[in-house]
Parts: sequence; structure tokens; C-alpha cells
Amino acid sequence: MLDKLDLNTKAQELRELLGEDANSPVDIFSLVNQVQGLTLVFYPLGENISGICVRDRDVRLIAINSSMSYGRQRFSLAHELYHLCYDDESGFNVCSKKLDPKSENERCADQFASYFLAPYKSLRTAIRKTAGESPLSMKHVIALEQYFGMSHLAMLWRLVSEGLLTADALDSYSCGVISAARSLGYDDKLYKPTPAELRKRTYGHYLKQVEELRQKDLVSPGKIDELLLDAFRDDIAFGLDEEEQGVGTID
Ligand SMILES: [Zn+2]
Repeated sequence: MLDKLDLNTKAQELRELLGEDANSPVDIFSLVNQVQGLTLVFYPLGENISGICVRDRDVRLIAINSSMSYGRQRFSLAHELYHLCYDDESGFNVCSKKLDPKSENERCADQFASYFLAPYKSLRTAIRKTAGESPLSMKHVIALEQYFGMSHLAMLWRLVSEGLLTADALDSYSCGVISAARSLGYDDKLYKPTPAELRKRTYGHYLKQVEELRQKDLVSPGKIDELLLDAFRDDIAFGLDEEEQGVGTID
């Protein structure tokens, strides 16, 4: 049986540990930089896998399927944070893209992710502000997912699980979200995958370690390049600076 109260508390706890308040929308990709020793890898993991978490005494690694939408990647990262910080079952999880997983452990991770991105209380407050007492329409659902930065499907599931939408609405609201969001004046970034050229990337601890090797002159420059290329960071290895990439404005 899912202990939703406990999962909401854990999600709040982790938000606070990472320096966030208990209610605001979060920039989860930037927040995880603060998780000690964590390496974050973006990689196209195929049709069925949303993310992977590996953790033991020496390694803390999360991989996210970068061919999923940006909103789904945010959800998936929050899901993997549950495995990293609260899951004692094993040191290795390969997580399904489906949002109705069978195992209780996976359902806990999904529920935690949902609370991490949209805490129970702040979702209620946002619903009151967005829809008042009216039943939730597609327009309201889009406003909520845009506010919390959550994928459309994850928001629909959350609203159904809290009895705020019917299962029938889940079916009828599942289509046409991108055009509806655009018509309502929103950016469609949430619904799009990472651009093809950026789908393989590594961030975090691994790069800090490579930089340490470089600074202490412990390995050859060729080996440093090799380590960077293994992590899909040819931009660092080959010194592709901001100017060359056409985004050189610092402001
Ligand atoms: Zn999982």
C-alpha cells in the first residue's frame, strides 16, 4: 500500500535539503548539481526505458532518456532521485516509461516524483487559482503542468489519482496537447524532446573528477580528451566555446 503522506513528506524533505522551499516550482536539472557525488547522463534510451539509477559506495549515477519530452525528463529525474535517496531495495534500477507500473517500488518512485515537482498543498492552491470551483478543463490541466513543469501525462495521472479528474477525461485530454498549449500562448518546450545534437551529455561528478585529473596533471592530455569523449563532452575536449556554438553572449 502506498503511503502518500510519507512520500509527500520525503519529497518536501529533499526539496528543503536541496535549498528549495516546500511549495514553489523547481528547476530540477539545476538542483541536482547539489547532490554530492552524482553524475547525470542524458542518453536516448529507446522506447521503453525512462531512466536508470545506479548507486553503491563508490558510484551515484542517474541516466535519463533524452528522447522523451522535456516535461517527462523532469518527472523521470525526480523519479530517479527517489531511488537514489530513499530506495533501499537494490543498488540498480532500470525504470519503465509506462506511468502505470506494476511494482510498488516503481509506484512509490512515481508518486514521490509527482509530489517533488508539484507538492500536494501547492497543487491544491494552484488549482484554486486556475480553475476556482469549476471542473478542470484541458485549459486548466495545461496551465497546471506549465506552472509545475510536469509532463502532460504525469499531470493527468496525478489529477485522476486525487479524484480531480475522471478516467474518461484522461483519455479525452491525452490528445492534441501541443497545439492546445500553443493556442493558449505557452511555449511548447515541455512537450518536446532534447534537440538531437544534445541528446548525449554528461554532467556533474564525473566531469569534476576529470577536471581534477587535468589540474593535478595526473594523466596525459590525450587521456583527458578520451575521458571527455567517453562522456559525450566533445564540446569540452575540443574547446568548442560559446562563440563557435553561436551562443556567445554573456549577460
Ligand atoms: Zn524506477
